[in-house]
Amino acid sequence: MATQEVLSDQLHRLDGQGYGAYKSLKGAYDFENFTLHIDHVQGDPFAAPSRVRVVVPQAVAGFPKSLWELPCRAIALADYLTREFYRAAEGSQRTSGSGKSGLIGIVRPSQAVLNRSAARVAAEAVELRFTVGLPAFGRRIAGRQAAALLCDSVPALVIRTLFYEALDAAKLERHVDTAEDAEVLRSQLSAHNLVAFVADGAILPRRSGVDERPLTNQAVPFKSPDSLRATLTCPHAGDVTGMGVPQGITLIVGGGYHGKSTLLRAIETGVYNHVPGDGRHQVVTDRLAVKVRAEDGRSIAGVDISPFIGSLPQGKSTQKFSTPNASGSTSQAANIIEAIEAGATALLVDEDTSATNFMIRDRRMQALITKDREPITPFIDKVQQLYTDYGISTVLVMGGSGDYFDVADTVIALDEFVPQNVTEQAQAIAAEYRTERDREGGPTFGTLTPRTIQPDSIDPSKGRHSVKLRARDVDQLQIGTEAIDLSAVEQLVESGQVRAIAAAIVYAQRYHMTATTPLAAAIAAVMADITQSGLDCLTEWPMGDLVCFRGLELAAAINRLRTLQTH
Ligand code: ADP
Ligand code: MG
Repeated sequence: MATQEVLSDQLHRLDGQGYGAYKSLKGAYDFENFTLHIDHVQGDPFAAPSRVRVVVPQAVAGFPKSLWELPCRAIALADYLTREFYRAAEGSQRTSGSGKSGLIGIVRPSQAVLNRSAARVAAEAVELRFTVGLPAFGRRIAGRQAAALLCDSVPALVIRTLFYEALDAAKLERHVDTAEDAEVLRSQLSAHNLVAFVADGAILPRRSGVDERPLTNQAVPFKSPDSLRATLTCPHAGDVTGMGVPQGITLIVGGGYHGKSTLLRAIETGVYNHVPGDGRHQVVTDRLAVKVRAEDGRSIAGVDISPFIGSLPQGKSTQKFSTPNASGSTSQAANIIEAIEAGATALLVDEDTSATNFMIRDRRMQALITKDREPITPFIDKVQQLYTDYGISTVLVMGGSGDYFDVADTVIALDEFVPQNVTEQAQAIAAEYRTERDREGGPTFGTLTPRTIQPDSIDPSKGRHSVKLRARDVDQLQIGTEAIDLSAVEQLVESGQVRAIAAAIVYAQRYHMTATTPLAAAIAAVMADITQSGLDCLTEWPMGDLVCFRGLELAAAINRLRTLQTH
């Protein structure tokens, strides 16, 4: 293997040559403390920066076994290193030059502690993947700057961020312990018959709609009502008390602006672990809980929405319902059925983002528009059956309709951001003021019909390229010429998840979708491959910008592909 000195000499020799000569750098270089792999060299100074990797032997990096032996701790450690590198790279001096010259970049972590392809810690080595903008003046190689970048700046960053000795050991340990605690808390939910757990003292509100960091001043810390308080135990923080959200049907009620949606959002993101100091690091939710909402305009392919929607105008079938332009109610019905198909065990619903006519049909409306002229069976008449027939719980923010008191097992009222257990009052009110509604939709939820996808309705080819993927941000990805709108898939928190999902769709289509494989089985097969071989199985080359996602979100993306067809 060539050495650092060889690389440095070569870069000096390339000085002044055309940018394309950088291509010769591809390969591995033996540095004093680590190996530098140059995996992909950018074509010009303005193109996506070059992809590189460093591999530091564990004997040099020196991370104690206790930090990486358990998988969830290894993920948290890798997450920490990515954050350290991100911060250090952001603060590092940039060399001059054109385009992306001298830029060092790594995926930007959110508040969630996630498994990312950017970093991996194992018994043998620590590996970090990032990008560098190879320096140029105009389109000529800036060789001296490149040598300084790769042979000085990069090693300095590596020593500062990937060597145990250089890191704040206490802070690192807290990061890893916190993630493990959350993992253990989450694992206790089902034994306590809970969908979610919100620790006392948690800070739920965020700084703003575009800033996921905790609101610092004026945040009212979470305090469980006594009657819903549960105590869970975790290895580092010990006993943790907080509000248990029970399985079954839970309503979150309260006046406008009293914190209902904020609580639900914390529960939505509780499927992930969070960094210490996030305020939600002891808020944990059933791993398979799914936020569902209305999403008019989305396309739907062959979904059996008949449990919610009966015969439509013009005799349109709802057992195999397809449309390029769903209404609010049909989109919300499809979102629920698809989530169940993909394995959801709990639904999270907010009235703010629901279709009113999907959620409720009151006595007066039942009288005016009789059932034979209304195809929709509202959610209120199906929510209990979802639980009794299929074990799927629902947590529902509902400030607008007390009709739901009839079907709720637990009612939590937020008053000035403080939760109260008002289940008994709500039930007394329900007994006193009868809604006089007729129950609709029959005694059972209805059948769930699995779908198989026509593999060739997913076409990742574009022009002469066989695969073209583009993930701009968390809201959209592109498969071939088709854009997929993910703005209603609200539990995606990092663009790297969207990039990984884009790759996973192509992978699923190539290896796991056949004319006879149910969609759920194809998704499960992809997720099993990722569990076994890591995110790298999704791509041809080692990429540093992929982030783990749930099968639920992969299914959600596939379901929103406008070319999708089912058998
Ligand atoms: P609702 O859904 O009940 O109308 P939201 O959850 O949207 O209310 O919250 C309203 C506002 O209050 C938001 O700006 C939110 O950030 C803030 N907020 C929510 N919970 C808290 C809290 N515990 N402490 C302080 N502010 C909060
Ligand atoms: Mg709200």
